[in-house]
Amino acid sequence: MLVLDGKLVSGSVKESLKAETTALLEKGYRAPHLAAILVGTNGASETYVASKVKNCEDIGFVSSLVRLDENVDEATLLSTIAQLNADPGVDGILVQLPLPKQINEHKVIEAIDPRKDVDGFHPSSAGKLMQGLPSFIPATPYGIMLMLEFFNLPTKGKHAVVIGRSNIVGRPMSILLSSNIPGGNCTVTVCHSHTPNLKEICLQADILVAALGRPEFVKADMVKPGAVVIDVGITRVDDPTAKKGFRIKGDVAYAEVAPLSSAITPVPGGVGLMTIAGLLKNTLQAYKTNNGIV
Ligand code: NAD
Repeated sequence: MLVLDGKLVSGSVKESLKAETTALLEKGYRAPHLAAILVGTNGASETYVASKVKNCEDIGFVSSLVRLDENVDEATLLSTIAQLNADPGVDGILVQLPLPKQINEHKVIEAIDPRKDVDGFHPSSAGKLMQGLPSFIPATPYGIMLMLEFFNLPTKGKHAVVIGRSNIVGRPMSILLSSNIPGGNCTVTVCHSHTPNLKEICLQADILVAALGRPEFVKADMVKPGAVVIDVGITRVDDPTAKKGFRIKGDVAYAEVAPLSSAITPVPGGVGLMTIAGLLKNTLQAYKTNNGIV
């Protein structure tokens, strides 16, 4: 069984991005700039944004963080996005989700200039992805594709089962795996909360992607021996014995599934790190495209 080590793969992606950034700086270009907007003080969101900012700095990008109050109104958030859209020194914009109830998430995503949509959530990016046109790929599925490629895991002709159909993970993942691209050409089944015979479908998977947000949902009796298992889930589960009072759990019962699988991502240390790698790659792409750098 191969452990699909996100630290190893994301480290290699970051190294090549850092080398490319250094070369650009040496040629006199400015550094790529990712701007993040964080609304409120949700603990998990704070952690994710801090990690994105730090990773930018690690590879020589500039990053800026705009913090808005939990009670901010939609108009203020939209005008913040408009300012970043108009700023030629900002290459990528991300708004950390989830957003508070008073704000319409779709409106916010649509307000981001598609040329700076490094999260790949804008309908324009999603439409291009659907049609196989160059676009920003949502960071998590992008990171998973990079991981499959790094470990040279065969996908052509395989049956991939994706549990979850969200716009940020499950659906784009299913599109990529079924596309005629390297890492694609699978036959894909998408499962969701209304799928009655989930276990039987999962048992047919050569590649199983779990993205439902239910800790340790995928048990050994749902996995075909030899399957490749990609665990996207990240859930904070209370644990008074842990230093922080919680532990991060994936959607897969790792201890019982790992011995059965041919390859598996750990949580933490798997897909989460690849998500950041995907985001950084998108940011450099936005920077190059918007500045006419080939
Ligand atoms: P979501 O809540 O938007 O979507 C969950 C999906 O799972 C839905 O489509 C739903 O139909 C399906 N689902 C829920 N219960 C199910 C069940 N019992 N059986 C079958 N399907 C079921 O979640 P999301 O944003 O797609 O995120 C999913 C998980 O991935 C969460 O744990 C989230 O924290 C994690 N996540 C991790 C990363 C990362 O970088 N590793 C990035 C994004 C999301």
